Amino acid sequence: MKNVKEQAQKIIDTTHGNICNRCLGRNFYPQVSGNDNHERGAYLKDILNTAEEIPEKGEACYVCGDIFRELEDILERIINTIHDSGVEFETFLVGCRLPPEILEKEKKIQNEIGSENDSLKKEINRELGKELELRLEKEVDFDNPNLVIMMDFANNQVDLQINPLFIEGRYRKLIRGIPQTRWPCRKCRGKGCKKCDFTGKMYPESVEELMAETVLKATEGQESKFHGAGREDIDVRMLGRGRPFVLEIKEPKIRELNLEELTSKINEYCQGKVEVLDLKMVSKDRRSGIKASSTETYKIYRALVELDQETDEEKLNALNSLNIIKQRTPIRVSHRRADKIRTREVKEIQVKMLDSSHLELVVNCEGGLYIKELISGDEDRTQPSVTSLLGINAKCVELDVLEVNI
Ligand SMILES: [Zn+2]
Ligand SMILES: [Zn+2]
Repeated sequence: MKNVKEQAQKIIDTTHGNICNRCLGRNFYPQVSGNDNHERGAYLKDILNTAEEIPEKGEACYVCGDIFRELEDILERIINTIHDSGVEFETFLVGCRLPPEILEKEKKIQNEIGSENDSLKKEINRELGKELELRLEKEVDFDNPNLVIMMDFANNQVDLQINPLFIEGRYRKLIRGIPQTRWPCRKCRGKGCKKCDFTGKMYPESVEELMAETVLKATEGQESKFHGAGREDIDVRMLGRGRPFVLEIKEPKIRELNLEELTSKINEYCQGKVEVLDLKMVSKDRRSGIKASSTETYKIYRALVELDQETDEEKLNALNSLNIIKQRTPIRVSHRRADKIRTREVKEIQVKMLDSSHLELVVNCEGGLYIKELISGDEDRTQPSVTSLLGINAKCVELDVLEVNI
């Protein structure tokens, strides 16, 4: 205890007694008991007073400049800022930014007595958090807060950061010709030029934009980001139970959503093009979960195949041997994918002859198998293929995804 007294006296001397109870007490956590640093400081001043005279605190606290006296005003400012912003939230986290000179003074005192168990910043955050929980009737969440409140003492302002919300669901793409996500114009890279009719895009619509339009309106969000469990080509439909996705909405003001109503509104807006189903609110971890490694998945495709010579039912039996496929990166994607040979499994294939030169195939296969190339053979880069087994050039003229499992 003697040591504590000496150290406390040292702080009193350095600051000429201009130190508030909290800033004094904070240096003696946890060795001096008390409910908070204010109590610790008051106790220390008390025992020092009985030993010898300590100067009356004449000026503002050397360390914090009496910041805790302004706490009531600060709380009011924060609450008003939140109300004015109109943001909806259930959980929050509050932090503060202190001017460098305050941090330097705190460091100086800490160095003198070698204690760094608590800090002014932590104490302010604690006090603000406690009071805001009570007054706003919301909960502090350290990991995934809806709203981050930053009290910036350095610039004397309150900053609000609204964290994104995440909606998981499945989509069906009912028509061909729409990309999954917004595709910036190749020529102007999104700035807008003659070629893209000053839209900055290769295609006027995408699955993402079609569904986000309605969700952005409902949430009053600023921007959307689409995370799909893989993607289909522009000319491929996505049918069946749909493809899983997570839609991220940045800076949403509204979080309380009636998902049934939202589903109807999206589907009304995207009518005949895109349909969403099974919407649910999820946490941000699902963003990466949805992009699970493609080999753990399986997919079912329906393909319409055109042959450049006539064939008959008997020859088609050869297709039942399609099983382990060695597939070198297809020519059409080789500019953006590493050139390597992948092994993928065809689990099941159903073959239906439509006429002597047209087939319908339903292929159940491992994720990551390129179906168009499974059919054409891609100049022997895919082996075996429909082309190699029939000895007739085969081409995929229509493709639908019927099921995606992750
Ligand atoms: Zn102080
Ligand atoms: Zn352009």
